[in-house]
Amino acid sequence: MTKSVDEVRADIPFLRTGIIYLDNAATTPTPEPVIEAMLSYYHEFSANVGRGLHRAAKRATEEFEAAREKVARVIGAKPDEIIFTKNTTEAINLVARGLGLKRDDKVITSLFEHHSNLLPWQRLERERGVKLEVVGSSRECLLNPAEFEAAIDRNTRLITTHHVSNAIGSVQPVEEIGKLARDYGVLYLVDAAQSVGHMPVDVRKIGCDFMAAPGHKGLLGPQGTGFLYAREDKISALEPLLTGGGIVEDVDLHSARLVDPPQIFDAGTPNIPGIIGLGRACEYVMDIGIDKIAEREMELTRRMLKIAENSRVEVYGPRGLERRGGVVSFNISGLSPHEVASMLDELAKIAVRSGHHCAQPTFRHLRINGTARASVHYFNLESEVEKFVELVGEIAKELGTL
Ligand code: PMP
Repeated sequence: MTKSVDEVRADIPFLRTGIIYLDNAATTPTPEPVIEAMLSYYHEFSANVGRGLHRAAKRATEEFEAAREKVARVIGAKPDEIIFTKNTTEAINLVARGLGLKRDDKVITSLFEHHSNLLPWQRLERERGVKLEVVGSSRECLLNPAEFEAAIDRNTRLITTHHVSNAIGSVQPVEEIGKLARDYGVLYLVDAAQSVGHMPVDVRKIGCDFMAAPGHKGLLGPQGTGFLYAREDKISALEPLLTGGGIVEDVDLHSARLVDPPQIFDAGTPNIPGIIGLGRACEYVMDIGIDKIAEREMELTRRMLKIAENSRVEVYGPRGLERRGGVVSFNISGLSPHEVASMLDELAKIAVRSGHHCAQPTFRHLRINGTARASVHYFNLESEVEKFVELVGEIAKELGTL
């Protein structure tokens, strides 16, 4: 049982505004069943989790914990390996702060990361004397496992890379890097912000120890939700970002006995409706079929890449589709990315992102200031993509330079 594109479109109220939404790498619109799941919390069992014994509190707790199971199913994990966060950034910070890394421990990351997978490590470098090594050299922004291998030394504790680049669209060899990390006894954190929900992702196959992901992108979940997968034998090694109410067994004035993971990461009142919505969103994308989503995004991307046939348009990243996600980053010569994005919006209500996409080192490496970026999801239509291709061609012809 899959859901057709028309059915999914009918479920997304935001699309009725007539927008051609090609900014899915930033965040995705929310389908009605996900909104309804959140509404049902407010309407029917609007209580806090984990504490009360009354029926509304019990139901809220059950639904909240059920979301852990649904998230786990999407990435091939166990429910007890899922920690809820407010976004990918928080999940990455949780690993960076929580591992107890100290002076001279080494972290290896890549030149092509989102700032959210760079700044948390820079902070450790500044505050704790952790050594940060950054590798990456390819013009297509593809990672080479050999460069990571060369950077590993006896002080290396962690490798962290993205799975799919939000800036360029490259798909990285995470399974090979995962194997390398295991061979050398180094931890591996994957930033899966652009892959979870967009393509099949299996944490066991990748062999990573941690995976940070958003609820509000590929999974079509609510904004303000995300999660961290932490492998069951590594989760206890992580210190929670927050401590306080809701996670204690017993408290004295100077000490406290806390609950086990993953609930130990839920101090304070969490985003209960959001997490319940995230659980429903996981069911929703699994109903479509994540392999179907991947297949369709690839076809839409193939069509988007036609803009590269125009000599005034430059598309960045891998040429072949097999190393690409549903993100196309481009420039029209003679125009700034912001000019291109504004024109697409004004002329045809086409929403694309422009700028450095929170990946400035990537663009310094490419010697450009930024790009315009179109990114798809399952619900985008072939006709929308054709319109985008046509308009980029027209703008390039009218206003671009050779
Ligand atoms: N990493 C990557 C690769 C991303 O694309 C993004 C979002 N653009 C992030 C991290 C940050 O995600 P969030 O907004 O969920 O914190």
